[in-house]
Order: sequence, then C-alpha cells, then structure tokens
Amino acid sequence: MSDFVPTPEQQRIIDEAHRHHEEAMRNPSARRPAPPLRDGEFALGLTADGKLQAGGGRPITPPDPNAPLVPSREVRADRAAGALIGAACGDALGVPYEFQPTLSDDQQPVMRGGGLGPYAPGEYSDDTQMQVVIAQVAATGLALDDDPAQRAIAEGFIGWAAGGASDIGAQTRRVLYTARTAGGDALEAIRMASTQLHAQTGRSAGNGSLMRTGVVGLGFLNGSDAVYRCRDAARAISGLTHYDPLAGDACVLWSEGVRKAVLASGPGLWRFGGVRDAIHLLPFERQEQWRSWLDEAQEKPPHAFQPNGYVVSALQAAWSAIYHTRIPERPEDHFRLAVEAAVRAGDDTDTVAAIAGVLLGAAWGRAAIPVEWQQRVHGWPGLRVDDLASLAERIIG
Ligand SMILES: [Mg+2]
Repeated sequence: MSDFVPTPEQQRIIDEAHRHHEEAMRNPSARRPAPPLRDGEFALGLTADGKLQAGGGRPITPPDPNAPLVPSREVRADRAAGALIGAACGDALGVPYEFQPTLSDDQQPVMRGGGLGPYAPGEYSDDTQMQVVIAQVAATGLALDDDPAQRAIAEGFIGWAAGGASDIGAQTRRVLYTARTAGGDALEAIRMASTQLHAQTGRSAGNGSLMRTGVVGLGFLNGSDAVYRCRDAARAISGLTHYDPLAGDACVLWSEGVRKAVLASGPGLWRFGGVRDAIHLLPFERQEQWRSWLDEAQEKPPHAFQPNGYVVSALQAAWSAIYHTRIPERPEDHFRLAVEAAVRAGDDTDTVAAIAGVLLGAAWGRAAIPVEWQQRVHGWPGLRVDDLASLAERIIG
C-alpha cells in the first residue's frame, strides 16, 4: 500500500465522483437505472498473436456447449484457494521491489524478502494480512454484506493494526488508530473515522482497499441475488477505511471479477470477463469513465500507470498485466507470467501484484500456482499455503 497524493486531474475526477455520490445519497429515486447486462459481451479471447483481447477473439479451447453451467465443487474449491494463495504469492513476490527501481522485462522477480517490513523470503505483507482478516470473518459463515460481519472485520482490522501489522499505509493507520481510540462499537467507530478522515483530507482514493478485496467475491458464490450482495459488501468493506466512491467502485469490479472467475464454466481466458461485466453494477454516471479506464489499461503496458498509489491506477496496472501477458503453451502458466508482469509494473509492486494475483488465482486455480511459490509463501498470523486453502474452503462452505 502506498500513500496517495492525487494530481490535479485525478483530483478533478475524484471531486466529480463525490458530487455524483452525494447527489445520489440525497435523492436516490432520481438515479438513472442501470442498462441491462449484455452477458459475455466483454469475455476475453485471444488475438492471432496470442494476446488477450476483449470482446471475443480466438480462444485456445472453445467453450464446451455441454459443460455444466457451474463448475464442480472441487473446481470451485481449487479456484477459491487459488484466489487467496494467488494474492499472497503476488504480494510476497512484489515485497522486495516496493518503491524500488522498476524491473525491466528481462529481470526476474524473486521472493527474496526485504522490502518495507523487512520481510522474510516468501512472507506476505499488509495487503494479504488485511485480506486474511476478511477471510477469517467470511470463514465463520457470517454474511459479508451484513453489519455483524463488517463489525467483526472492523474489530479484526483494529486488532491487526495494534498488534500484527508489519507495515501499514498512513491513511489506513490513521483510520484504525482513530477508531481504536474512540472505542465503543467497532463498526460505528471505524465508519466514523473513515468518514472524518475523508472530510479532513479529501483523500481516500488510495489503493489500500482494492488490495484486500478479492476475497469478498468468494463469499457470494450461491444464490440468485449473489451479484448484488457481493457489490454491496465490496463497497461497504472498502468504505471501512476508504470513504472514496472510486475506491468502492474498484472493489466492486474486482470482487465481482473474482466471483465470476470462480464460477465460470468456460476455458481459462473467458474467466476474466467478470471485471468488465461488473461495470453495469456501478453508478450510471461513472460507468463510461470506468470503461475508458479499462480500455486505457488494455492499450498501455503496466508500468505506464506509475505512480499506482491511486486506486484507479493500481487497478489499471493489474488489469494491464493480466491483459498483456501472452498465453504460453501451458495456458495455466499465464498465472505466473502475469503476476511477474504485475511486479514489473513497478512502484507499489506488492499491492499491484496482490491485486492481479487474486484474480489470476481465481481464474486458473491453485493447481496453476508454481509449487516453489506455494512452499515459500507465508505470513501473519502464522499461516502457510494449506492454511490459506482451508480458509478458502471454509468460506465457500
Ligand atoms: Mg504491502
């Protein structure tokens, strides 16, 4: 996580999002209805030269029309584990390079520890630590879109900041410290602190809620209203520390992306379509803007989005890394190559790679994650790879 100071243009966009947000809060009935979802419109495919391409393209394996609509329990469990382990591996791989000179295409990132912690080789940082707090609450069976779960997450964040945090962004630290000092009901305290901090600084559109959001998608794999409950949970959990509506938007897109990736029955590349499809879940006024931000990510390389402390830039860098990584002969190796590409985005490397890793892991599954990474990855509160897998297993129930 990095401390985010917006440029004048970013500030203009943030201010505009706030105006829309406040208008919608004052007058919810005047909100324009969302256009109907055109399902699969944005499914990813391959171009002739092996690059991912939005809107179809040439798939490696065509979707099997007889494939079951929802993958088996075993496949869903593998992908859910892949999401948590993928985030942790991306984080741990990015840790040594956080705020260091950007790696070039021929430099190989290695899980060698160091970074801001300093961390042991393979140890993940605040990004995954905070995601683990959410995962532990989800694993108890509490619904993440309800207050009891969000209260438990608030308590977990506050406890983590006071005890377990090995590093923590300035904004998140301030919110959690203020909430802890206020005492009383943790959920009320954290919401108050988050709102206040935004009112004081106007700056809460950093990448610190996006970096921990993917797990929210795992909590909503069942039920006809899962898509809307996931949306509401993602925005609410983002808002515990990041009041900004753009941070909430990014968390909605990414959590839904993870949810769809786990549930997708198509071959690998089609499993990434959920991020673009989720644009229809955002407030109408910002849908076109997000479409153009994703388009931009599909046009430019990951390092073009430096600095990536801004939630929009971090999402673009992660999406660009996933999108521009060629599909190798063994398609599932796309996981490793795209996570490495996310580290090469530079700047806030562990966060961008954790964001990319959760979606890549959800799409390709644990089986696609290099065994040597799985053996090395570990972190607060004393978890190793099998612990992350069993957390995921309990979340999907
Ligand atoms: Mg970190």
